[in-house]
Amino acid sequence: MTEARTAIVTGAARGIGAAVAARLASDGMKVAIVDLDQDACASTVDTITAAGGTALAVGADVSDAAAVDAAVARIADELGAPTVLINNAGILRDNLLFKMTVEDWDLVMGVHLRGAFNMAKAAQKFMVEAKFGRIVNLSSTSALGNRGQANYSAAKAGMQGLTKTLAIELGKFGVTSNAIAPGFIVTDMTAATAERVGVPFDDFIKFSAEQIPVARVGQPEDIANTASFLVSEGAGFVSGQVIYVAGGPKD
Ligand code: NAP
Repeated sequence: MTEARTAIVTGAARGIGAAVAARLASDGMKVAIVDLDQDACASTVDTITAAGGTALAVGADVSDAAAVDAAVARIADELGAPTVLINNAGILRDNLLFKMTVEDWDLVMGVHLRGAFNMAKAAQKFMVEAKFGRIVNLSSTSALGNRGQANYSAAKAGMQGLTKTLAIELGKFGVTSNAIAPGFIVTDMTAATAERVGVPFDDFIKFSAEQIPVARVGQPEDIANTASFLVSEGAGFVSGQVIYVAGGPKD
C-alpha cells in the first residue's frame, strides 16, 4: 500500500475548511488543521480522529511568512511531507469604498492573498521533491465584483491569477493548481454578512436560494466534494482552472 499523503488545510477550525479537512481525511490523507488559534482546531481534529483518521492541530497566522514556514516544517516533521495544500483561511472586512480603511484593505489582502502565497511557497518544495502536488485556492464569486467588498473581491480575483501562475510554473513537477470559487455557502462567514446587512440568517438563506438556479444555498460539503476531486490522483490533467461551485453558471 502506498504511504498516505499529507494535506494541509488552512482556516480549518470551522466552516468550509473543517468540512474539506474531514473529507480529505476520509479519502485517506493525514491532515494538518491550520488556524489562527491552535486550540480552536480541536473539534476538527476530534471529528477526524473519531472517524479513524489522522489529524494534527497547528496554530499559525497564514499572513505571517515566518509563522507559515515554522508551521509547514512542523507538519512535514510530524505528519510527513505535505503534497496537498488547500488555501482556505479567510476573513471579511466589508465596507463601501468611501468608508473602507487602509487597515481593512491590508488585512484582507494579507490573509487571503499573501496567506496563499506564503503557504504555497513553503509547501511547494515538498511537492517538487515528491514530483506530485495539489494546490487548491479558495476564491469566490465575489472575484467578479461585489458591492461593499473592494478588498475581498480584489483578493479573490488575485487568487485566481496566483492559481494560474502556480499551474504554469509547477506543472512540470507534477503539481496542479486550481481554484474553487464558491457562491453562497452556509457558514459563520455568511451568517456574519446577514448580520451586517441586518437580515435574519434564515431569511437571508431563503432569499439567496431564490436567486440560485439549483434553488438552494451551498453547504461546506459541496466545496469539500469539489476539493476532494481536485486533489485526487485522477485530476492530474486539470490545472489552472477556476471552478465556480455556486449552484449555477458565473462568468
Ligand atoms: P469562516 O467560517 O469564517 O472560517 C474561516 C476560518 O479561517 C476561521 O476558522 C478563521 O479563524 C480562519 N482564519 C482567519 N484568518 C486566518 C489567518 N490569518 N490564519 C489562519 N487562519 C485564519 O469562513 P468560511 O465561510 O468557511 O470560508 C472559508 C473560505 O471560503 C474563505 O477563504 C472564504 O473567503 C471562502 N468563501 C466562502 C464563501 C461562503 O459563502 N461561506 C463563499 C465564497 C468564498 P478565526 O475563527 O480565528 O477567525
